Amino acid sequence: MENTVDKEANQSPIPVGVDTTEPTHWYNIGADLPEPIPPHLNPGTKEPITEAELSGLFATELARQELSTERFIEIPAEVRDVYSIWRATPLMRARRLEQHLGTNSRIYLKYEGVSPVGSHKPNSAVPQAYYNKLDGIKKLTTETGAGQWGASLALGGAMFGLDVEIWQVRASYESKPYRRYQMELYGGTCHSSPSELTEIGRQILAEHPDTTGSLGMAVSEAVEVAMTQPDTRYALGSVLNHVVLHQTVIGQEAIAQLHEAGEETADVVFGCAGGGSNLAGLSFPFLRHVLTEGAQTRVIAAEPAACPSLTRGEYRYDFGDFTGMTPLLKMYTLGQEFVPDPIHAGGLRYHGMAPALSHTVNLGLVEAVAIEQDHAFAAGITLARTEGLVPAPESNHAIAAALDYLAGPGRDRSETIVIGVSGTGVLDLPSYQRFLPEAQA
Ligand SMILES: *Cc1c(COP(=O)(O)O)cnc(C)c1O
Repeated sequence: MENTVDKEANQSPIPVGVDTTEPTHWYNIGADLPEPIPPHLNPGTKEPITEAELSGLFATELARQELSTERFIEIPAEVRDVYSIWRATPLMRARRLEQHLGTNSRIYLKYEGVSPVGSHKPNSAVPQAYYNKLDGIKKLTTETGAGQWGASLALGGAMFGLDVEIWQVRASYESKPYRRYQMELYGGTCHSSPSELTEIGRQILAEHPDTTGSLGMAVSEAVEVAMTQPDTRYALGSVLNHVVLHQTVIGQEAIAQLHEAGEETADVVFGCAGGGSNLAGLSFPFLRHVLTEGAQTRVIAAEPAACPSLTRGEYRYDFGDFTGMTPLLKMYTLGQEFVPDPIHAGGLRYHGMAPALSHTVNLGLVEAVAIEQDHAFAAGITLARTEGLVPAPESNHAIAAALDYLAGPGRDRSETIVIGVSGTGVLDLPSYQRFLPEAQA
């Protein structure tokens, strides 16, 4: 991979349909950063990974996007057509929450829970299925935590006629069966991970029969199957540059919607960070204005205290999976073998963080806070009791970080606050039940 930013792409004019409620392009922050995103490395040679190496695992176009330094990448019409089923997602002013908090700030919720699976994840699952279909691929394999990504990829497979086989982290497979039913409803197949179906799964089970599983282990299983079966490729729901890229429809819409509401931009953007894709997707289009026009938007990543890669991890090269089958990624990491406690926000149980988001954190463009689980649920309950919206347990971390900010440093300011609500929590009501104040009394 070229280590220098493509100067020509940098000077390209902004195409029509960027920062609108119907984005025609995805935004690649790599083109605007003062230093390029550190390249992924081939674990054998420690050299930057090439497009040819990546396309052994991913669709040709996705491999190209992963290494691209182009600022804007056009969204295919077929993908925009599927997006239009639920996009643009709403940006909602949370006046009742504002009143409840007694704040002078204006709070907006960018709500991804209206997608068919109830989160932001189909924003990348749909183009990933599309590009694999173009390559003549028959089956996609993947891992899933809470089941949001598995259901999203199964949806993508249904849209473009691909088989989808999913390894779900055991803790979630057992505690959240509804997402599995949804994967199956879309025609996908779902296994508990670690499973007996793969070499690596059998190895892990032999050594740790009682493991709760982890995303890293499930990645290893899905990658193994993709590498050993014909016409089969692997799809990743977060972390990689191409996934982050696809999610930038969120932030572009939010900017346009803020303008419609009479706001110039956001002063502070909050999002939860597991692998980093929803927060990057929401915030990178805002950061484009920071980087190229001197806009002043702070971005705050909220991660779970039980899996604090940004606030407690090291910034270094690490594998994306448990056993070391993926390229080496430069990221904030707790180590490839870190197995977090089985918290309710299954989507945030990942040991690393997107290299693109890690890089912006390292450059000081994004700040990070760690949130305890009970604090996150308390914030979600406050939102439900003021606005009626039941957020995903993952999203509660972003809401808690925003409420902390509005009770602390942001108390006396009059600012424009955007909170990324990455998904709905309606399938997580059993989790909420345990955190109700009435249940604690
Ligand atoms: C998967 C998921 C997340 C975490 O993934 P990111 O890549 O960090 O966005 C957050 N919220 C919801 C609702 C999810 O399903």
